[in-house]
Amino acid sequence: MLLQVEHLDVFYGDVQAIWDMSFHVNQGEIVTLVGANGAGKTTLLKTLSGLLQPRGGTITFDGVVTSSKKPHDIVAEGIVHIPEGRQLWSNMSVIENLELGAYGKEARKHSKETLDWVMQLFPRLQERRHQKAGTMSGGEQQMCAIGRGLMSRPKLLMLDEPSLGLAPKLVGEVFEIIQQIAKQGVTILLVEQNIHHALQISDRGYVLETGRIILDGTGKELLANEHVKEAYLGIA
Ligand code: ATP
Repeated sequence: MLLQVEHLDVFYGDVQAIWDMSFHVNQGEIVTLVGANGAGKTTLLKTLSGLLQPRGGTITFDGVVTSSKKPHDIVAEGIVHIPEGRQLWSNMSVIENLELGAYGKEARKHSKETLDWVMQLFPRLQERRHQKAGTMSGGEQQMCAIGRGLMSRPKLLMLDEPSLGLAPKLVGEVFEIIQQIAKQGVTILLVEQNIHHALQISDRGYVLETGRIILDGTGKELLANEHVKEAYLGIA
């Protein structure tokens, strides 16, 4: 087990957003978190990456308790969070954005070979290495954000809505790349509105409603589940 979350409670002030949540991600898996707007998916990712402190519960990553660690220490442990909306340095080139992603001593030491790996995964970034990130298309920016995250050589890559705002053709491409990254040994925790696509490539998934996990199963099981079909896939 790479990530284990036990009885997690997260609050914004007095308002509880995550309730007694427990789940796990095994090494090498693609796991998707499914949920409507406001279900708590982003809050959960922010808590896993140390941007929010849980009020209760434990997060254990690769044998280390990370729930009270700071974001940079959590990156150093091997968790990288690609937030929704990409957040690239728009006036810097693609290559500069990628290089700045080589965060931490180990990552810097291997940055040349990691960069080669990222460029191989994303030939489009290679072609556009000197272009300012802010002038690239939405899909290219998403690739650059994922590539930058990979530069710190994570064990777990958390992606928040990677297909948001992308043209249908690019959506397929991004999911394809996620599968490739997983095949190369990086475990993936995915938050997606594009549930059909996400569950198709997932080993397992969890369904969140109002800050609680209400269902879990393999990607296939969840796609065939009556509640998922009705509430999330629009199939009655
Ligand atoms: P979406 O897909 O819309 O981003 P989500 O599942 O990621 O939804 P969260 O953004 O995690 O949901 O929000 C969970 C709950 O926490 C919501 O009720 C939201 O209003 C609340 N919330 C989120 N951020 C804050 C904040 N900074 N302050 C107070 N409440 C917040």
